[in-house]
Amino acid sequence: MAQYEDDATSTHAEIEDELAAFAEEQASELGLHREQWEEPNHQHFTRTQRDTTTMLVSGLTLAHDTLVCAAFSHLGYRVAQLPSPDNAAFQVGKEFGNRAQCNPTYFTVGNLVNYLIGLRDEQGMTTEEIIRDYLFITAGACGPCRFGTYVTEYRKALRDAGFGGFRVMLFQQQGGLKQATGEELGLEVNQEFCLGIVRALMAGDVLNLMGYRLRPYEIEAGSTDAAIAKCHQIMVDCFASGRSVVRSLWRCRKVLAEVKTDRSQPKPLVSIIGEFWAMTTEGEGNYELQRYLESEGAEVDAQPIVNWLLFMVWENTFDIKLRLDLREADKGAKKALDGKTPTKTLWQLRAADTAIRTVFQTFAHAVGLYGYHLPDMDQIADLAKPFYDNNVRGGEAHMEVGKLVHFVDDRVNHMTISVKPFGCMPSSGVSDGVQSIITSKWPEAIFLPIETTGDGKVNVYSRIQMMLFKARQKAEEEFATALDQRGMTLEKFQYKLSKSAYGKRAFKRPPHKLAGVATNLVYAI
Ligand code: SF4
Repeated sequence: MAQYEDDATSTHAEIEDELAAFAEEQASELGLHREQWEEPNHQHFTRTQRDTTTMLVSGLTLAHDTLVCAAFSHLGYRVAQLPSPDNAAFQVGKEFGNRAQCNPTYFTVGNLVNYLIGLRDEQGMTTEEIIRDYLFITAGACGPCRFGTYVTEYRKALRDAGFGGFRVMLFQQQGGLKQATGEELGLEVNQEFCLGIVRALMAGDVLNLMGYRLRPYEIEAGSTDAAIAKCHQIMVDCFASGRSVVRSLWRCRKVLAEVKTDRSQPKPLVSIIGEFWAMTTEGEGNYELQRYLESEGAEVDAQPIVNWLLFMVWENTFDIKLRLDLREADKGAKKALDGKTPTKTLWQLRAADTAIRTVFQTFAHAVGLYGYHLPDMDQIADLAKPFYDNNVRGGEAHMEVGKLVHFVDDRVNHMTISVKPFGCMPSSGVSDGVQSIITSKWPEAIFLPIETTGDGKVNVYSRIQMMLFKARQKAEEEFATALDQRGMTLEKFQYKLSKSAYGKRAFKRPPHKLAGVATNLVYAI
């Protein structure tokens, strides 16, 4: 028996050796290299290059990108803002990117490559000059979805488009900037740098939110956009010169106060949730969803970037609390508790959460954004937990599920749209999968997942129109019931509103009772 096993083992080993030799022979005949592929990581950016190197910034809304650029320029960096990704960028992304990427990858990667092609073909710069004088800075993160491989996608597409060696600096969501150089760093990720970004993001948030509140009710078409454009300039000057953000937002408030509004009309309030980039971008990446909804008579409830900052604080707190239950401190991983004082870290995270909320509300009140509630991240996690495990990360993690339950439970809106990019792994599981459980348990929810493929605009618009019809009806019924309960006709309500502080000051927010602002005004006056 033993003799038989020995023979079988040696025969097996011989076959394996023979196969390996054959594979080697074939590979060398075909010119295939069998070594591990390593992506060259071009990140050389030194202090001496700073004055001649332009950092390209892109990825969020116009307000955020503009203000982040201004904050960088105050710190002494040369910066330029990429345009909002459009369909031409998408096509370039498809041409040079890997197959089967998620839709935002094609838009964002293509946008950078397209911009560099423009520098080369339209502005006459040589490829060497572009690679020497420009770099791109972007967010990245380790994670289960494709966001973790974005930076590699950028490098692959740049190389294939003829810009091999172009520097893509990854500002990680957790862990600062990866920069391997022995010389003095070109990009200093210090406290001033991080605070500059955070303040710019929050200022961008409050300006965007003011625009969404005013635009649907403006009496003179275009007056909100004109006021917001002036505010952008005020805030750019503020960040570029390092002046007080609160004081500058106060100046913006005066500009925005000039916009005349009529909030007596019931309008459906539509929240946009879903994949981070797809719900945030303001261009063809989501078929200009926000503008389309407004053109159809809706008020938009967009998710500010600050929610993401709060989520990152929540995520770290959650993970540390789980690790505290281990028999002994874990070792090795970056987040390991070995050698650390977890209770101190938890206090620091709690302080960070309070600081973010305080700064945001200070900015919000300065610009006139009253009654805006940031989500309670523990509540969102608890609401989502029975349907989507809080340990599952990637994309929006459990947030999309928790938010939808919160919207319905607390009557936050009339309708929710979830933007689901084509090829997005987490969104497919959440928007098409888990959310169907939520809508079956909360049938009153008007929920519409839309897929952004880059070429499905007509289909998406027609699906929105159908659902918006229901949301509009809901808003009108709610408003009519409120008038009925208060014993007012529409004319009487409009008259009383015009005489009240709510009618005279567009910033004054009625207490929340139901979703529509007009309905809440009926109850408030
Ligand atoms: S969440 Fe989806 S769309 Fe966004 S990076 Fe990950 S896979 Fe791509």
